[in-house]
Amino acid sequence: MDKLGLVRDIDLALHLPLRYEDETHLTPLAGAHDGDTVHVEGVVRDARIELRPRRQFIVRLTEAGPDGLLGRTELVLRFVNFYPSHQKTFATGARLRVRGELRAGFFGREIVHPVFKTVTQGAPLSHELTPVYPTSAQLPQAYLRKAVAAGLARARLDEILPLDFLPPQLPSLREALHVLHHPPAGVAMHTLQEREHPAWQRIKFEELLAQQLSQLQAQRERARLRAPMLRAAPDGLAAKLLAALPFALTGAQQRVSAEIAADLARPQPMNRLLQGDVGSGKTVVAALAAAVAIDAGWQCALMAPTEILAEQHFRKLLQWLTPLEIDVAWLTGSRKGKARTAMVDKVASGEARLVVGTHAVIQGDVVFERLGLAVIDEQHRFGVAQRLELRRKLAMQKLEPHLLMMSATPIPRTLAMTYFADLDVSTIDELPPGRTPIVTKVFSADKRGQVIARVRDEVAKGCQVYWVVPLIEESEALDLQNATETHQQLGAALPGTLVGLLHGRMPPAEKAAVMALFSGGQIKVLVATTVIEVGVDVPNASVMVIDHAERFGLAQLHQLRGRVGRGAVASVCVLLYSGPLSQTGRDRLKAMAETTDGFEIARRDLEIRGPGEFMGARQSGDALLRFADLAHDNILLDHAREVAPRLLDRHPEAAQQQIQRWLGGKIDYLKA
Ligand code: ADP
Ligand code: MG
Repeated sequence: MDKLGLVRDIDLALHLPLRYEDETHLTPLAGAHDGDTVHVEGVVRDARIELRPRRQFIVRLTEAGPDGLLGRTELVLRFVNFYPSHQKTFATGARLRVRGELRAGFFGREIVHPVFKTVTQGAPLSHELTPVYPTSAQLPQAYLRKAVAAGLARARLDEILPLDFLPPQLPSLREALHVLHHPPAGVAMHTLQEREHPAWQRIKFEELLAQQLSQLQAQRERARLRAPMLRAAPDGLAAKLLAALPFALTGAQQRVSAEIAADLARPQPMNRLLQGDVGSGKTVVAALAAAVAIDAGWQCALMAPTEILAEQHFRKLLQWLTPLEIDVAWLTGSRKGKARTAMVDKVASGEARLVVGTHAVIQGDVVFERLGLAVIDEQHRFGVAQRLELRRKLAMQKLEPHLLMMSATPIPRTLAMTYFADLDVSTIDELPPGRTPIVTKVFSADKRGQVIARVRDEVAKGCQVYWVVPLIEESEALDLQNATETHQQLGAALPGTLVGLLHGRMPPAEKAAVMALFSGGQIKVLVATTVIEVGVDVPNASVMVIDHAERFGLAQLHQLRGRVGRGAVASVCVLLYSGPLSQTGRDRLKAMAETTDGFEIARRDLEIRGPGEFMGARQSGDALLRFADLAHDNILLDHAREVAPRLLDRHPEAAQQQIQRWLGGKIDYLKA
């Protein structure tokens, strides 16, 4: 029960059915069609173990009418798995009610493995629908039903919200919960299943409101914090960096840089998400912000989720900032011993002005002299726990640092509003000039030979190629085999060409060496697992082949594809799939071939997968909305957004109770 998060009575009361079973009436077999779920009463005429076509237990029932009298219609119950107790239950003459899907079977119309219950003639039917709850394998429905009913009876369900804060014409919370747990016979089942029933509306509104309240509260708490005011001097470091860049900022980069600069100059900590498609040039925007912080006499930390990505940033920043005499430090998990101690000392003394690395930057013994700005790249890949750790760490200073998060997975507006109501969002909606759009082609795996031939041609023209193989989560061994086999195969098919291999379980130094050879152009074809997914920047790479593309999520495919098309050459992305594809699989690859716009892809991804999965893939268990669906409940969401500030102002206690009731122990996570 604890595993399901069912700790308090209110948690049990809010554990709502997935669906219902209808045992409030019997289904006359005469009017039923194959494929229908039926509920039938009957008397056993015959029951025996048959050996043909295979060993199974076959029960022949004669249907009883609503009056309990026997008719002529027969129904076969078939059990492939059965126990001696079955033979007792289904003794000839026994009267039962059975439920299951009707189908045409070998022995006549049948139900395979029905749900069954022995009854006496004239036994009353249930007067309410039977709830089926989400559960885990170990927890039987019957047990859960009892526990939920008990929790529902004990839970305090008095109305917290003043009437004028509710959308009109919804039942009270208590009524709503009673209807959903025990719907009376005759209620339109589809309004429950589709979650349209007023009882559902009430529950979803409550949930949305609790979430809006907690976000709003976090935002107000943050507004009370103090941060250093970091102002860019007209001829300061940022201006010098701009002047030294080999390119001019795009309009979008200028706009977001101005938004960030305005935040940095304020005495409240910035909490901003910088989103922009892959290749839109977020790094230079971060570098400019860092220059402002450093110029004002503060330190800056830049964190990336992987060493490869952190190292790419490090190189770029070294190249841009060293000429300006800014000391850039490097800190990752693999850096140990003396080198690490020396670096940690430099951070503590303030000598290191900019620290780049993985989340090792904020771990354990690392203390900043005065941290003014923290930048997190690909923040969605930082787990909730890491974000909380960061917050805790940052809160150790008297003045809080400013926080800039960067993401190449654009978050659609409704999601940003609900999940990140506490964040300000800046968007780079324009790519630097001179990029040629990537052409994406989808091929079935039997065209693999042709694809390899194409790779050979491209290499001959001087291009570099990524060949990505999927990570098979269930089996590291298989994953590796997959990568090494592909590596060997391509090596053999491309004589005289240096083919590299990069995967997650290589030691960091080896990974760095392979990346350096690829960046340097010696390695022409790089076989890689998804370690290259984010951020890697090799402009001469113009072909990407993604093996088993059907196994990747849309956002991931988009990230991967963003590794090419970074230079002026026309780039190609080949998606190789192994059939047969599911409908979702087809939709995904089609979306990839049709558009290269990250925002459009995010929108389709959201449509295909739903918001829970879209947001939570890497943080499963913290799905923050259980019941409301942002794609469909926007009217309720608008209402919740509208009343939340008023409730917090005028009825602060009610607001707290509402947050507690719905979010309980999850509140911490919301602030992450
Ligand atoms: P991302 O937003 O995916 O992190 P990067 O910051 O890695 O993108 O930028 C991608 C590439 O574009 C880098 O090589 C970067 O130097 C280059 N770049 C960034 N801004 C511009 C610009 N305004 N004009 C030309 N090239 C740019
Ligand atoms: Mg990047």
